[in-house]
Amino acid sequence: MNHLSTCVIGIDMGGTYIKGAALDPKGKILSEGRIETEVAQGRARVLGNMARLVADLHEMSGAKSLIGVGLGVPGALDFKEGRIIQSPNFPGWDDFPICSTIEKEVGVPVMIENDANAAAMGERWVGAAQDLDHFLLITLGTGVGGGLVLGGKLWYGETGKGGEVGHMKITPDGPRCGCGSTGCLEVYASSPALVRMAAEEWNREHKNADAVPPMRWTTSSDLADAAEQHDPIAEAVFEKMARYLGVGIANVANLLDLNHFIISGGVSNAFHLFERPLRQEVARRVFGMTPEEALKRIEIRRALLGESAGMIGAGHLALLASEGKI
Ligand SMILES: [Zn+2]
Repeated sequence: MNHLSTCVIGIDMGGTYIKGAALDPKGKILSEGRIETEVAQGRARVLGNMARLVADLHEMSGAKSLIGVGLGVPGALDFKEGRIIQSPNFPGWDDFPICSTIEKEVGVPVMIENDANAAAMGERWVGAAQDLDHFLLITLGTGVGGGLVLGGKLWYGETGKGGEVGHMKITPDGPRCGCGSTGCLEVYASSPALVRMAAEEWNREHKNADAVPPMRWTTSSDLADAAEQHDPIAEAVFEKMARYLGVGIANVANLLDLNHFIISGGVSNAFHLFERPLRQEVARRVFGMTPEEALKRIEIRRALLGESAGMIGAGHLALLASEGKI
């Protein structure tokens, strides 16, 4: 144990658990833990739980001083002001100045970042994007999110919503998306989208049969298990999803001349099931190179940090902030 060392703490604010890690300045995890969020018990309880987790992680890390805390939160945020604008995990917290409130509890600077942006920074620090200055990380989970890194920095856009590839339009008349629009990437590449497409595929194949679709698949991981067993419907769904995702990636590649993409989130556990059709679809649609060249030039990697990417990236952002780099 090095009592002279420093650490930062990265927190992933989930709806069920608040997960966190204390990290040294090189990104090595010194301690890790989680605590129930207890969102139904109200804001004071959640903030108390978070402060306790931060104190415990710091103590367990063995580091002498804590220099900052980063929070990864899903939803719309004002990262400059340290406010939650609106988060699906924290109903009723709209416009809440979370950073200044936590700072009073923990006594060090606290910063907030969108969960997908935090994951992108985590992968760049110690994961699949360490060698990349320009890339897009796409999280495929309950929804589809994105973190766009250009020139080594997150691209926020004009109002902070940069990189939201989940709501890029893939088809003009597709299924309705939670955002109110239709045909977004999220309705083709999220875990619920895969389950929906499996039911659609089943219905199409059994249109003349008086049968009820089986409820055996409720998550993308059920579908991945079925595809591993060569279930034709499950295999077809991953192929279909790969085509839509490939259209989205090719659009981004064409807009930004971007050649590197990282696939993260729960659905990325099935990366091997859709990697080949995804690469082929992208290669067919990238402007200015032959499909053969595109297969070589456009790199699509699976993320390395799994569910820890968000908290590790949040910790990195806290470190960068302490060094005056962001
Ligand atoms: Zn949408």
